[in-house]
Amino acid sequence: MKIARVRTAGEAVWGIVDGERVYRLEGSPWENPRRGAPLGELATVQLLAPCEPTKVVCIGLNYRAHAAETGQEVPPEPLMFLKPPTAVVGPGADVVWAPGSQRIDYEAELAVVFKRRAKHVPRGAYKDYVLGYTCANDVSARDFQRGDGQWARAKGSDTFCPLGPWIETELDPGNLRISGKLNGEVRQDSSTSDLAFDIDFLISHLTKYFTMEPGDVLITGTPAGIGEMNPGDEYEVTIEGIGSLKNRMTRG
Ligand code: MG
Repeated sequence: MKIARVRTAGEAVWGIVDGERVYRLEGSPWENPRRGAPLGELATVQLLAPCEPTKVVCIGLNYRAHAAETGQEVPPEPLMFLKPPTAVVGPGADVVWAPGSQRIDYEAELAVVFKRRAKHVPRGAYKDYVLGYTCANDVSARDFQRGDGQWARAKGSDTFCPLGPWIETELDPGNLRISGKLNGEVRQDSSTSDLAFDIDFLISHLTKYFTMEPGDVLITGTPAGIGEMNPGDEYEVTIEGIGSLKNRMTRG
């Protein structure tokens, strides 16, 4: 099932995407969602970010080839940081340049959306807590990341967390092709099977520290091929079995 949020008649509502059509979601997205009345053709509705997280927990340096391209190694434990809810935007939304930055990069990532409160999740149990998967772009101001000593504005500025296009609930995340295109040209192309720390491990680890609420998001790190995204550029993240997330950089 593909769970989306759409704007219809000025109101944000949950939806279910089926083929080329979107239907209203009846019940709760977290438990037993059902298809309701049609909302319209997929091509004509405005998709929003598919959830409203209270926080986005992010993992850095989780693909060996990406760690190598930054001159680093995968750390012995997952490297975690946060993006605030105000960083989240949906498919097609503008990513707005952070004032004063000289270099902002795209990062294609697999995102995991929680459906239940999760704390101290044991190894092997993560599927009981996961609603499904979507695409993310971990937009990153590299100069701020290097210079600031922590990553709050480098990775958490407004619009720096595009998510979408919807949450795919029927998916095994272990071996999915993940790619990214800058203005239509392939820049990242890898598989989630190359994750250094897999989703089962990441969820057991992060929930030692953070309580994840329904709709909260984990983004799992980016594969090799990172590069800059300048005003006017469009970056498209595609993950096998999910779909594509496209966003354009603007000067703001
Ligand atoms: Mg990242």
